[in-house]
Amino acid sequence: MELPISCRCGKVTGEVHGAVPATVNRVVCYCDDCQAFARHLGRDDLLDESGGSDIVQVAPATLQVRANDALRCLRLGPKGLYRWYADCCRTPMGNTLKGVPFVGLHASLFGLDARGLDDALGPPRARIQGKFARGTPPPGSTSLQLGPLAKMVGLFLGWKLRGQGWPHPFFDRSTGEPIRTPIVLTRPERDALRPT
Ligand SMILES: [Zn+2]
Ligand SMILES: [Zn+2]
Repeated sequence: MELPISCRCGKVTGEVHGAVPATVNRVVCYCDDCQAFARHLGRDDLLDESGGSDIVQVAPATLQVRANDALRCLRLGPKGLYRWYADCCRTPMGNTLKGVPFVGLHASLFGLDARGLDDALGPPRARIQGKFARGTPPPGSTSLQLGPLAKMVGLFLGWKLRGQGWPHPFFDRSTGEPIRTPIVLTRPERDALRPT
């Protein structure tokens, strides 16, 4: 099972190998950072009506991205996630953390409609960080969801134990550093992107 991914314009492409509902973790994240990232890219259109980002977490070794000049790395501040995007069409590609074996792909990369995504990757396992949602938070999104959380931790541990953290499409194995120098937003730049 190989699922192709692509930025909107088709310049940055790749695929995920062995992606089935049991091997990925699909969550909708309403956090202010994910919203800020979409806003920074001018891609509010990729947020759902509550401001959620549909994210599919996969093992780095199962993901291939044919990196080219359009690939960029952004950090909303000096700490936290390394967020990757295709600069050609400002498409969010993946969220990563240094040293943690996962890539959170934006679901739009699969080019599937809602039904197709559910069929290929399963429906979202959880809706999280609902306190930042626009309007009324979606059901369950503001509470700690132990079942989905345990599932995610189990998947991540399995990826680590099976050595699926490498090769990583966005990090250099020998140095552990990102393959692009991150663009780090200043505090005022980041604050300007916060939901009002
Ligand atoms: Zn593109
Ligand atoms: Zn988020």
